[in-house]
Amino acid sequence: MLDVPRHLFVDAAMQHRAYDNDALPIGYAQTISQPSIVACMSAYLYQSLNQSLGYFNNVLEIGTGSGYQSAVLAKLWKQVYTIERVEHLHHNVQSKHQKIHLSNIEYFYGDGHLGLPEKSPFDGIILTACCVEIPFSLQEQLVVGGVIIAPIEYQDTQVLMLYKKKQEEGKIKWQESLICEVKFVPMLSGVRNQA
Ligand code: SAH
Repeated sequence: MLDVPRHLFVDAAMQHRAYDNDALPIGYAQTISQPSIVACMSAYLYQSLNQSLGYFNNVLEIGTGSGYQSAVLAKLWKQVYTIERVEHLHHNVQSKHQKIHLSNIEYFYGDGHLGLPEKSPFDGIILTACCVEIPFSLQEQLVVGGVIIAPIEYQDTQVLMLYKKKQEEGKIKWQESLICEVKFVPMLSGVRNQA
């Protein structure tokens, strides 16, 4: 976290709040996540993959947004893939990562519900927008032993959930853990390409 200067990912008008522990607006009704939540999600993903797989090469992020979470992930993973549905946010992010010499991130413009079959399977998947359940395509694109971390809408609140994919007697089983309550923007369908 100390290696990723958050002010690079925060809008000009919000620079004075770049190092507050708050989510901040980034336009298009979206937000850069709160740093403590970025740390929490990255650490849970890292630790649980370390326990279950013992290695982790690639991670898929749904919701590139400002690019802050993907920058933190790029410090820990060999390869990061990130998908964003708002074209303007997708186009703006690469130059920020170049400023801090990150070259292990690949960017995709599209609907994260579909995942990235061409780059799968992934060791880890992180959703940074809230959904009701994990889209089936993402479940399929995870290796056995892999981990998905995601904010899930549950009875009028949102909870951060961790799902570990297991295989027992030839059948896929999911081990679930609830981490904490959170507040994320919703995961929407389709793409947005107008200003
Ligand atoms: N990880 C981001 C958090 C951004 S907020 C950061 O560090 O700044 C969530 C992002 O998810 C928004 O940019 C929103 O446009 C995006 N999003 C929402 N639904 C999506 C979908 N179906 N596919 C891809 N991105 C999506």
